Amino acid sequence: MTLARPIRLLLLGAPGSGKGTQTSRLLNQFPSIRAISSGDVLRTQIAAGTPVGKEASTYIKNGQLVPDSTMVGLITSQLSQKGWLNQSSTWLLDGFPRTVNQAKSLRGVLSKSKANLNLVVELDVDQRIILDRIEARWVHVPSGRVYNLDYNPPKVPFKDDVTGEPLSKREDDTAEVFQRRLDKYNQEIGPLKSFYADIGILSTVSGNTSDIIYPKLSKLILDKFGTTA
Ligand code: ATP
Ligand code: MG
Repeated sequence: MTLARPIRLLLLGAPGSGKGTQTSRLLNQFPSIRAISSGDVLRTQIAAGTPVGKEASTYIKNGQLVPDSTMVGLITSQLSQKGWLNQSSTWLLDGFPRTVNQAKSLRGVLSKSKANLNLVVELDVDQRIILDRIEARWVHVPSGRVYNLDYNPPKVPFKDDVTGEPLSKREDDTAEVFQRRLDKYNQEIGPLKSFYADIGILSTVSGNTSDIIYPKLSKLILDKFGTTA
């Protein structure tokens, strides 16, 4: 489906709330949308052994946030390299910004290019349910595709559906580190939501599985941005 006007969407949601899964589904339904996942960008930097990757890896392992200045530099340079800093571009961000500081910096960059975000959606999932299912999460690092052995298992056990390459566990998906990530999220999300609510672009979709959330998210986007067909 093709949207009638450009969408620049930010997905907010606790770790494990399914931002990656919703992103994959959106890209399937709306092929004009492109995506950047901050976590995937960081894991790619780590795998490539870049200075940013080296800096980030300690924070990530411990369930802490990578410093704002590093994140803003990393993601804005990606936006610029991809040629996304213009008013006709259509894209979504998953995982960045996740502090008010980052949100303010990004807004400064995007405003200059008339490419501000026009929709922010919070995925609201019960955190007890997230904790229960996180141990069953496996990922395909090169693509960022996410599987859950219980909810959306790969077609072949422990292999990526598209490439057949092996899946892996994220180092930061252990119970202890994961709880720290949730705590950090809960600390940052209030102010971040207020920031986008004040601008008037915040929506929330609730549900405890990706299958419940996706139709709501898709409808929200269609209602707000329309289709050309
Ligand atoms: P999930 O991918 O399960 O939805 P998440 O949002 O916590 O959970 P990622 O987005 O993959 O996970 O991020 C993994 C780690 O990378 C974070 O715990 C954090 O250390 C770092 N990170 C990612 N995005 C940011 C950001 N915008 N600011 C600071 N650190 C970040
Ligand atoms: Mg993610």
